[in-house]
Amino acid sequence: MSSTRIKPDQPAPADTAPGDLCIVCGRRADAAPLYPGILRCRACGYVFADMRLTDEELFKLYDEEFFTGAEFSDYAADAKFFRKNFALRLREIKKFLDPARHRRLLEIGCAYGFFLDVARDEFARVEGIDITDAGVRYAREELRLNVLQADFLAHDYGARKFDVVCMWDTIEHLREPHRYVEKIAAHTEAGALLALTTGDIESLNARVRKDRWRLIHPPTHLHYFSPKSIAQLLDAHGFDVVYNRYCGFYRSIGNMAYNVLVLRRQKPALYRPLERLGVGGLGFYLNLYDIMYVIARRR
Ligand SMILES: [Zn+2]
Repeated sequence: MSSTRIKPDQPAPADTAPGDLCIVCGRRADAAPLYPGILRCRACGYVFADMRLTDEELFKLYDEEFFTGAEFSDYAADAKFFRKNFALRLREIKKFLDPARHRRLLEIGCAYGFFLDVARDEFARVEGIDITDAGVRYAREELRLNVLQADFLAHDYGARKFDVVCMWDTIEHLREPHRYVEKIAAHTEAGALLALTTGDIESLNARVRKDRWRLIHPPTHLHYFSPKSIAQLLDAHGFDVVYNRYCGFYRSIGNMAYNVLVLRRQKPALYRPLERLGVGGLGFYLNLYDIMYVIARRR
């Protein structure tokens, strides 16, 4: 199977995939173009990229380059800021934790393992799973974490159960997020928590920026949820949303400059002097009110 992408100047077919069901509302796929290459389910409003990737094509996007050039200037060097962000995210989950009840944590898409490292003292056991080789190697060798290099859907967890499952900035990257939520439900019991972050396509910033919103980013970002569509997807698999707030994040000035100067404007010559000045170590906190932090509880 090869990937097919509808060119922006072509109208999307009325029924892009006969027989397919909307992953959120379960109705027969019937989507209208929202932006070039981006469709919205006519029935429930869920927004998604008009792309059909095989697992192989998708996994290829997340080789080492993803973290060291394609998307991040230098992921490991930004560790300080990732840790600060993850400490904030952990602080919110802790408000919903019962230490006697929530003991086993799984992070799907754990990358270098910085969240697991920040969270490890709060749980009896933390473990992660990620498809990227470099991230998993770092998590295992440098942070001594229990992390698997595998696809969550393909890995057999047997009868194992988890009490807290986290997916930070991950669900929008998945080919079949509904199957992830379904499998998470199979490996959790009533009262378990599912915590995730993802962009909000209905946020003010997303609506103002339209297809120039920074999170419209196929083929790595394939799904664009809203408070309504994420709640509907989670509800369909037995999870009630108990918390949904916009979250900010710490960023390094170096990473920000790299994004703007190198990735967007293709001007690496402007970035190099900043790099020499060591701006990567400086950072700031930013909340654009367009990233949802969702916590849901298993019924
Ligand atoms: Zn739908």
